[in-house]
Amino acid sequence: MLLEGKIAAASINEFLKREVSVLLESGKRPPHLAAILVGEDGASKTYVASKIKNCAEIGFKSSLINLHEKTDINELLSVIQTLNQDTGVDGILVQLPLPNHIDEQKIIEAISPDKDVDGFHPVNAGKLVQGLASFIPATPYGIMLMLEHYNIETKGKHAVVIGRSNIVGRPISILLSGNSNPGNCTVTICHSHTRNLVELCQHADIIVAALGKPEFVKADMVKNGAIVIDVGITRVPDASKKSGFALKGDVDYASVAPKCSFITPVPGGVGPMTIAALMKNTF
Ligand code: NAD
Repeated sequence: MLLEGKIAAASINEFLKREVSVLLESGKRPPHLAAILVGEDGASKTYVASKIKNCAEIGFKSSLINLHEKTDINELLSVIQTLNQDTGVDGILVQLPLPNHIDEQKIIEAISPDKDVDGFHPVNAGKLVQGLASFIPATPYGIMLMLEHYNIETKGKHAVVIGRSNIVGRPISILLSGNSNPGNCTVTICHSHTRNLVELCQHADIIVAALGKPEFVKADMVKNGAIVIDVGITRVPDASKKSGFALKGDVDYASVAPKCSFITPVPGGVGPMTIAALMKNTF
């Protein structure tokens, strides 16, 4: 069965739309997300534009702050400081990756943990590890919301997560291993130095592929009936497309899908759920 992120995200958006009207009826203002984009990276521009569009669709206020590629770190820090202090702003996100001359970690740590809707601040990451209420990074949160939406039983299952980034791999491994529903999985986290990755995947009930290598997960790595969550999005040159590229996931969908009980498509799987989760965090 296809796990359609678009459909699950639409139901979250509908819920949030209703919640916004309740806020407005009680005389309160709508949630306000401020997004900062530094430079002209095509993929980043597209991601930020989708987030801003989603805000408009559900009645959130949003502000997009476009900064020049050569913006220095102090200027960016001062913009963040202003947003931190602005009581009319609820959530702040800085679209990553940043240009090489800016230290990303310094920027992440400059955002007030109370407005850190991307959940990358060490305070939120630490709370997540301890199972405390926190902002959960949008992609892993979106995956959990999708499992919940489709009522997928995860308890006791063996989940293999490929990738250990702070944005996806590590937080999803923590969430899936948590004492929660969805959750309660036995989790193996794999990375570029894992020796027996194929064998580990072959024993997985759930595979979360988040390594950024197009079509890396092949049919011979997946057991029959597995649940496969494909997080990867890579732009691969494709002359037949108007844009000049096609979006590829980390899973070889054509060969893997027939073996799965559930699988996410790319695009239309984890991507829309990531935005829906960001909206939930902002709300
Ligand atoms: P990253 O580059 O920060 O991390 C990749 C991880 O994969 C690393 O931990 C690395 O150790 C591991 N890895 C690399 N090669 C490997 C190999 N051969 N075997 C095992 N592990 C390997 O990437 P990221 O930010 O976590 O993103 C991963 C992918 O997910 C990318 O394609 C990215 O575009 C996509 N992504 C999608 C969404 C979404 O909304 N759908 C959001 C975030 C990231």
